[in-house]
Amino acid sequence: MNEPIVVDSVTALRSQVRDWRRAGLRVAMVPTMGALHDGHISLVRIALERAERCVVSIFVNPTQFAPAEDLDKYPRQLARDLDRLRDAGAHLAFTPGVGEMYPAGFATKISVGGPSRGLETDFRPNFFDGVATVVAKLFLQAAPDCAVFGEKDYQQLCVVRQLCRDLDLPVEIIGAPTVRDAHGLAMSSRNAYLGEAELDIARKFNVILRQTAASLTAKADEAGAMDAAANALVSAGFQKIDYVAARASVTLGPWQRHRDGRLLAAAWLGTTRLIDNVEIPAS
Ligand code: AMP
Repeated sequence: MNEPIVVDSVTALRSQVRDWRRAGLRVAMVPTMGALHDGHISLVRIALERAERCVVSIFVNPTQFAPAEDLDKYPRQLARDLDRLRDAGAHLAFTPGVGEMYPAGFATKISVGGPSRGLETDFRPNFFDGVATVVAKLFLQAAPDCAVFGEKDYQQLCVVRQLCRDLDLPVEIIGAPTVRDAHGLAMSSRNAYLGEAELDIARKFNVILRQTAASLTAKADEAGAMDAAANALVSAGFQKIDYVAARASVTLGPWQRHRDGRLLAAAWLGTTRLIDNVEIPAS
């Protein structure tokens, strides 16, 4: 495999992507915060099925972290990430510094409504403003034909689709299934914070969500099923449940039994916050 081209300036990124597009090559983008795992690599594979060139951005975006969150301790391992990107066949890694993305005097924020209301926003009020702003910048910088986002961050995927629709950003958004370990735990860079005992508990997260989704499909009462899920998470060892909620799968509006839905949850294990979601098939 060839080494990916590594650029840290917007100018160099633009000029490389322009060359590819002039040559008639389709370009896909995979935005990440690095500490790449198999979930990220699955997005690169999907990108390479959809386009001839794959750009991966690695940028730990400070505007999507609240002051008390884990920005400083977020795992950073660029050399290892570049090895993984080479093995996966990605063509370019965009690794801007904070000053390149947010130069002195930066003063713009993009705020998406609709699917960003509730769920994560109830607990991380500025999170999606940070995500929408950085994704809009990345799309304007790289001008990709398409971009791949994981269903692991399901609300984020819905917010990015809304952003592109509302701002007429000509980027096709492709949703990718969540990659899980052998126990069903969704892969996440934050799993690295978990000790052995916490990992055992974390692996029950997806099991409880799948059981809850199945009970909803089998006609369980929604409020009762949400209470039962929260209780099951606490019994499993989660210390705090931010939310467990059933929503409509596209708009994230109220769940309707006869339509496909999504069960989304966020819960704490010690100082680590995990999120996951599963489909609720229509009944
Ligand atoms: P992050 O580096 O956490 O910002 O994630 C970058 C992209 O990878 C996002 O589109 C995530 O949804 C996606 N992603 C993270 N974990 C997984 C996973 N386990 N399976 C599939 N996609 C994932």
